[in-house]
Amino acid sequence: MWKRKIIWPITWVPILRSSFNFAKDALLHLLLPRTCYACGKDLPFRAEDPLCAACAAQVRFVADGLYCRRCGQPLRQGGAHCFHCRGSKSKKYPCAYIRSAVVFNPQVRALVHPFKYAHQTYLAAYLGGWLGQAWPDFDVLHTAQLLMPVPLYPAKQKKRGYNQAALLARQLGRITGLMVDENNLCRIRNTPSQTGFGREQRAENMKGAFVCRQPEAVKGKVVLLIDDVATTGATLEACAAALKQAGAKQVMAYTLARDV
Ligand SMILES: [Zn+2]
Ligand SMILES: [Zn+2]
Repeated sequence: MWKRKIIWPITWVPILRSSFNFAKDALLHLLLPRTCYACGKDLPFRAEDPLCAACAAQVRFVADGLYCRRCGQPLRQGGAHCFHCRGSKSKKYPCAYIRSAVVFNPQVRALVHPFKYAHQTYLAAYLGGWLGQAWPDFDVLHTAQLLMPVPLYPAKQKKRGYNQAALLARQLGRITGLMVDENNLCRIRNTPSQTGFGREQRAENMKGAFVCRQPEAVKGKVVLLIDDVATTGATLEACAAALKQAGAKQVMAYTLARDV
């Protein structure tokens, strides 16, 4: 007798689910196409990246060019150090090295701003990918034992709902296997915005703004600070000073982008 072959429902579930997801994505793409964060052009169907191919090609990695061996500032001409780190000047900085994954240009800004100010926290995975991609280029950072995000002033973090530096640190922690300590370093002073400030003013503005709550957790350790954007490095230096005071053996910093 002819027998009907039974296909168990369990085998149908994934097929139905993926067809449903495909139809849902196609409908969403038709009605509300996702656009490139930088240029606003429609992204291809089921594109994973938040930038179109043309804008993604504009992202420049710092390690592909010349940069200061101490502070990581991209350099126009040759040489090992920028003007501020030349000769014995390097020694006055508590942060031994600063490195950044990419140069802060309009395409990078188009992602960093919504990530920081508009709750687009899902961008952490994509931006953290840049930190991971550039990580092998920066040997000096590989002695780090602990990752520490630059903290926000508590009231600011409460208002924002998250600390973007901590989201980046978690991504890098996942990639490198390094532990992330998010609550030890604290910002004890709400510093005014540094926009428009010069180098000296920025350093003065940040002085004494941070404190390490549990010195025993950093004592004798090599700590790597994580932040979104570095400009003169004043914030990173103030964090590093607090950690050195707490007994850290060495403090370095790694940021997503470098403003030049
Ligand atoms: Zn684009
Ligand atoms: Zn420098």
